[in-house]
Amino acid sequence: IVHWTPFFQTYKKQRYPWVQLAGHQGNFRAGPTPGTILKKLCPQEEACFRLLMNDILRPYVPEFKGVLDVNDTEEGNVEGNEAGETLQKDSNNDNVIKRTIVSSYLQLQDLLGDFEHPCVMDCKVGVRTYLESELAKAKERPKLRKDMYEKMIQVDPSAPSAEERRVQGVTKPRYMVWRETISSTATLGFRVEGIKLAHGGSSKDFKTTRTREQVTEALRRFVEGYPHAVPKYIQRLKAIRATLKASPFFASHEVVGSSLLFVHDAKNAGIWMIDFAKTLPLPQHLPRISHDAEWKVGNHEDGYLIGVNNLIDIFQDIWNS
Ligand code: ATP
Ligand code: MG
Ligand code: MG
Repeated sequence: IVHWTPFFQTYKKQRYPWVQLAGHQGNFRAGPTPGTILKKLCPQEEACFRLLMNDILRPYVPEFKGVLDVNDTEEGNVEGNEAGETLQKDSNNDNVIKRTIVSSYLQLQDLLGDFEHPCVMDCKVGVRTYLESELAKAKERPKLRKDMYEKMIQVDPSAPSAEERRVQGVTKPRYMVWRETISSTATLGFRVEGIKLAHGGSSKDFKTTRTREQVTEALRRFVEGYPHAVPKYIQRLKAIRATLKASPFFASHEVVGSSLLFVHDAKNAGIWMIDFAKTLPLPQHLPRISHDAEWKVGNHEDGYLIGVNNLIDIFQDIWNS
């Protein structure tokens, strides 16, 4: 689902509605200075940005400009208040209050800032989008989940086993592993999360865009009418791949749920790595992963380079046809 976040961004004296292709709408707001945005702080992501600003990957991630505390107001119910919040009773309704919460944000470069009427695509990279720890936690006390069974048969009625059909339920770890197979994540090492074309257009749901042919078609539509963008994307992806292979940050981290953000307009095209909320330092007993080996439970391989390689191959196919 594409959200058009309810804020306008001003850059080079132009105002434009900011585009957000994934994530919770409340996590983003306009930054205090032109060309910046704010994303709700997650300590893990902050730690990554601090390292990335001193890594050779720096040109391929949004510039990190520090942490900013902002007063957020939200309406809520009297019962729900937590310690540390400032409460303001609403004069008309005793049960509705306005809370002021101090939230910390990461101040980041707005990657859309240098573009005019940009086309934007978010591709989530890697062969899985959950952490090993999340899978391990789901396995602790696996209950049968009817809701997950229902979601499963909605997408693919033949997915549940005979036993799962009999009990009308699946466990959460089973569901997590299955979910990565309905998109191209498990096979191609990336999936399209969202696309926004320059003038409205395509905000399709890509959750079940799975085969190489389906993905190629989605990418082809994304660059349709912008032939100059294709060689630029190929070149940029190759530069990112070469830099990843030499990066101390990449060698020492498991990169999960992170995206490549593709942006082009009539003149330019660029790609940046975003979203490091689930990018973690590797455990001490496993100081390095290859990023292109098959994932087996416990080996921490994320398949990031499998995704980058397939993206390069597919854009090359598009360029050659
Ligand atoms: P999720 O974990 O669900 O993917 P999230 O809350 O971690 O979401 P991000 O993935 O970091 O958020 O970003 C969500 C969307 O916001 C992206 O798909 C992109 O459209 C936009 N976005 C994020 N960071 C930037 C940036 N620096 N410049 C421009 N757009 C951005
Ligand atoms: Mg994301
Ligand atoms: Mg995220």
